[in-house]
Amino acid sequence: MFADIIIISLPIPTIFTYNIPDEFTKIIKIGSRVIVPFGNKSNFTGIIENIFDKKDTIYNIKDILYVLDLKPTIPAQHLNFLKWIADYYMCSKGEVIKTALPPHLILTGKTSIQVIDTDVKKMIYLNERELKILKIIENSNQKNYKKTIEQIPFKNKYNLLNSLLTKGIIRYEIALKKNKESQKKLLYKFDFNHFTPQEISLKLKTTKKTQEKIINSITAILNESIIYFSKKDLKAKGLTEKLIQALKEHHLLIEFEKPLSDYYYNFSTNETHLPLILSESQQKAKKEIIVSFNANKPVLLHGVTGSGKTEVYLSLIKDTILKKKQVLLLLPEIAITTQIVQRIEKAIGGKVPVYHSKVSTTEKIRCWEGIKKEQISFVIGTRSALFLPFQNLGLIVIDEEHDPSYKQQDPAPRYHARDSAIMLAHLNHASILLGSATPSTESFMNTLNQKYTLVTLDKRYSNIPLPQIELIDITKDRKTKKNQSKLSHTLSYNIEKALHKNEQVLLFQNRRGYSTHLSCSNCEWISTCKNCAVSLTYHLHHHHLECHYCGYHEKLPTLCPHCQNPSLHLHGMGTEKIEEDIELLFPQARVQRMDLDTTRKKNTYQTIINQFESGEIDILIGTQMISKGLDFSQVSIVGILDIDGLMYFPNYRAHERALQTVIQVSGRAGRRNKKGTVIIQTRNIKNPLLNYLSEKDYLIFLKNELIERKKFKYPPFTRLIQLTFKHKTQTLVNQAAHTLKNDILEKLNDKIDILGPSTPIIEKINNVFLKEFFIKINNIKDINKIKKIIQQELDNLIKYPSYKSVTYKIDVDPI
Ligand code: ADP
Ligand code: ZN
Ligand code: ZN
Repeated sequence: MFADIIIISLPIPTIFTYNIPDEFTKIIKIGSRVIVPFGNKSNFTGIIENIFDKKDTIYNIKDILYVLDLKPTIPAQHLNFLKWIADYYMCSKGEVIKTALPPHLILTGKTSIQVIDTDVKKMIYLNERELKILKIIENSNQKNYKKTIEQIPFKNKYNLLNSLLTKGIIRYEIALKKNKESQKKLLYKFDFNHFTPQEISLKLKTTKKTQEKIINSITAILNESIIYFSKKDLKAKGLTEKLIQALKEHHLLIEFEKPLSDYYYNFSTNETHLPLILSESQQKAKKEIIVSFNANKPVLLHGVTGSGKTEVYLSLIKDTILKKKQVLLLLPEIAITTQIVQRIEKAIGGKVPVYHSKVSTTEKIRCWEGIKKEQISFVIGTRSALFLPFQNLGLIVIDEEHDPSYKQQDPAPRYHARDSAIMLAHLNHASILLGSATPSTESFMNTLNQKYTLVTLDKRYSNIPLPQIELIDITKDRKTKKNQSKLSHTLSYNIEKALHKNEQVLLFQNRRGYSTHLSCSNCEWISTCKNCAVSLTYHLHHHHLECHYCGYHEKLPTLCPHCQNPSLHLHGMGTEKIEEDIELLFPQARVQRMDLDTTRKKNTYQTIINQFESGEIDILIGTQMISKGLDFSQVSIVGILDIDGLMYFPNYRAHERALQTVIQVSGRAGRRNKKGTVIIQTRNIKNPLLNYLSEKDYLIFLKNELIERKKFKYPPFTRLIQLTFKHKTQTLVNQAAHTLKNDILEKLNDKIDILGPSTPIIEKINNVFLKEFFIKINNIKDINKIKKIIQQELDNLIKYPSYKSVTYKIDVDPI
């Protein structure tokens, strides 16, 4: 018997075939993890993709070393999903699986073998060899599984190890760092039935005084009627950290993790939460959604900001859980999860597990295992939560489906979570709901051609009016203004009014730092990064110039480095500059800035949000961080300081993206009975895009946008694949790009267009040169064939010795 094995984290698309030693044939299953030798010396973790019988002899084939799972780690239908991602996004299955699995399941050098059960009753069923192995494991350095295994002298040692694994006597484990969060979840139980408190205190060999203390503590603990104690309980009874450790070492105190059941699994058992009452229009929307679900059609819920989409999601989520099916709610970014998770937990009256790249490994494991064992019925996550091994998926909800952070940029797989979720739902026969106030052109088009159902909520909850939009021509304004601030008359006047009424203000500027660049008016010199082809941004707080791509920074020069003139000027404005202006104009206001620079430390994001929510901040200035999904009740004024800066990007999506951002930011205004006003500053009042700033006009914009896209053959009418080459030598990336372009064109001349090769806007990052081109696939039906040919040509190209050191990146459906 042979097995095809996907080697985890290997960026090679090839699948490797291994021999299955006879002792494993019965236990090996598709989706199980195995250890295989690969390359010269290393052993890797792999996943069984396929098992087949010998037909012809395959030469030089290596043996699978051992099998790690008796039940597959990746359920078979889930493996199909992961394989689809690899195929569609043109990356290796190993890369996908590496992203999908929580780190503890990928064995590394730190893996240990542990004996977990030495119950005498079980021991009599072990044979001599198994007992010998147990001895070896117990006496070896258990932290290094490789060394331990080397010491086992039997030929069929892996078989024996698997037998011990089946009987639950040993286990493999990756050393996990215990963080504070998981410490809190630890419980303790005493195990000293045979000893009196006096005997225990003697066992610990401490001073007389401490012994007395221990006797008192333990007597007090024994008098309690409870069995399980938290660390806090133990300390309250007078046990110090040191004593707790000592008791543990003597096996008198057993420490273990709180079982998963403190998560909220079952809504039906908990009646304490408030019943959710949907408004009439929410109910109507829900009904339409269900009709579409019953016809196996995905739904796009277009609901204006504040229309109560979250409440509709919640109602559907509850229904699904009551039907004993699993639910996944995807949110675009970690940053915004906290507020919405709190809201949801309040509504359902229990804890919901959250899965994203920043949660602790322990938490990831709990989630992964809980989902797999169907102990968890509802999980909230960012894009990577798609990779959880759902067994019984009933519903996927994707909030803010238009958000670009659903697309993974680096490393591969460069997948789009919304598009992949459609596939996941399809494979699992689950329902899927996409929600947004500003849907993407892709999803909107899918409603036009009947692939999805469009459901609309066109009014805010309890008929609160949508904010009023005011456009300000900043060039006109500047002529009549005396101060140098970046705020127009209208904006500062409205802020003043709001402050007077104790209302809050949000100011949006999509650029952090103080100014966008420093230049010399004498000689045209501009401050640029020495590693990247970009200008340096001035940061007031650090008083330095900084590169936003590689982090390089230098002191602000006083003289022009080129002509030695002192005629240096700062241009453009970032959030720091706005903050400075605001503090000058409104010295009495409490002002806070929220961008990458002020939220680097853990929890600072949440602290700022909480302060703003509780009214400790009057004016919040921020980048796109403040635009997403936040629900504040006291905001009456939203200011967008430079809408032009959002619109001019050489990307066919620039307009869509700009409007989405503006409408989302605007949507934070006047959400609860306060009338909201949005003040937008522009230097280009005639820009036709400014006609669509109101939410009511967004779908009209989308319709016009689709006409444009069709005319110029852009997605969603075509598909794009982006290829980027990277190397320290510019000529080499140029050559590679041109050669590949010609190779591909030769094969596919009539089926594709190639845009480029061109130098990206930023042609050099960290001293590495980039060259890119786009392949435009005009007939979407051909896409699979075309991808195969592109991959072949690429594989051929990098076989040439001269291109060996060139790296490349493929991005399918780039955004
Ligand atoms: P959206 O996500 O569409 O922007 P939200 O779900 O944040 O809107 O709802 C806006 C506000 O209206 C929230 O404060 C929410 O609590 C409130 N709300 C919406 N629907 C209901 C409802 N059925 N009952 C009570 N409050 C609601
Ligand atoms: Zn100069
Ligand atoms: Zn740089």
